[in-house]
Amino acid sequence: MKFLKKVMHANLTCRQVEEFLMDYLEERLGFWKTLQFRVHLLMCPNCSKYFQEYKNTIALGKTLFENPDNEAAGKVPDELLEAIMSVKKGYRK
Ligand SMILES: [Zn+2]
Repeated sequence: MKFLKKVMHANLTCRQVEEFLMDYLEERLGFWKTLQFRVHLLMCPNCSKYFQEYKNTIALGKTLFENPDNEAAGKVPDELLEAIMSVKKGYRK
């Protein structure tokens, strides 16, 4: 229980979660920060939603940019922009 308490007390703010998002996805956060990050996502519906949508957006971007035969190659696809916009709109602190 002591360990859990420590995690709770050292919890990240929503702003920090936003800042760590890229590092988390690229697995550059250490064990401790990763743990705090995941605990925050579990406790904070806003960040959890934001994280899910962010991940979807990245996946969508990768699909589009990794396929050179895609007609959207070379320009920013509307689909990706829309996804990014909807994430920004949906995220309220
Ligand atoms: Zn949060």
